[in-house]
Amino acid sequence: MDQYRVKPGSRVDLSQWDPDDTNGFDGAKKDSDKHLAMLSIKLEALQELLYAERKHKILLVLQAMDTGGKDGTIRHVFQMVDPLGVRVASFKVPTAEELDHDFLWRVHRQTPARGEIVIFNRSHYEDVLIVRVHDLVPTEVWQRRFEQINAFERLLADEGTTILKFYLHINKDEQKKRLQQRLDDPQKRWKFNPEDLKERTRWSEYMQAYEDALSKTSTAWAPWYIVPANKKWYRNIVVATTIIKTLEELNMQWPETKDFSKIAVR
Ligand code: ATP
Ligand code: MG
Repeated sequence: MDQYRVKPGSRVDLSQWDPDDTNGFDGAKKDSDKHLAMLSIKLEALQELLYAERKHKILLVLQAMDTGGKDGTIRHVFQMVDPLGVRVASFKVPTAEELDHDFLWRVHRQTPARGEIVIFNRSHYEDVLIVRVHDLVPTEVWQRRFEQINAFERLLADEGTTILKFYLHINKDEQKKRLQQRLDDPQKRWKFNPEDLKERTRWSEYMQAYEDALSKTSTAWAPWYIVPANKKWYRNIVVATTIIKTLEELNMQWPETKDFSKIAVR
């Protein structure tokens, strides 16, 4: 999965990252479903250990264009995980109170505690993406945020947070297909948001903003992964595998218990 990690200091050109990549696998539905279910069971076991050990904190950041599949990724990757074991924090248009504070204020309070996995569905990165594309703050304000974000994530990492950031990479054609599906399918129509069409006209500006964010904020302590996401099954497998590998590398241990050998339950 290392091939999808953005090396710190490298310059990202998204046109060089294939959103259709499946690493040579064909993704027969039966096989990929089974594979993902297996990965999710593994994740379930690791989550339990994480909770029991109460040492590490896990932060997963999900960013994508509209219809990019953030919700679907969460649903599928965590299908077998105890709902008590993960928390999703979704970041919408900031409230008046949130806007009266610095941009990290609402984010910091959602970060994981010891033993916890928190998934950011959108994140502080909106503050250098939509905010930039729509000129919601002056240029010099969003420009200095890259450094502020790196420092913030460094603080979290220093205090025991493992951070993984996923950009779900789809292309404009795939978005068109997915938006059209939402319109055509009565059970998906509720998800259709006419505003998404407006954002779509600014695709290339968003790509530029994403390229900058991915280039400037992929660090040793909080790496970005560019996940090929046109094929949903492959996207899910890449994200699940990356999380599992990272959790395994933490070398977590079940907590020591007292000697219960003399105790019998009657
Ligand atoms: P999604 O589209 O991710 O599934 P949703 O449809 O449930 O989410 P929306 O209300 O469409 O919910 O998405 C949240 C909106 O809030 C997005 O358009 C996002 O860009 C915007 N947003 C998030 N953070 C900020 C921010 N800091 N400043 C301005 N807009 C933001
Ligand atoms: Mg939306």
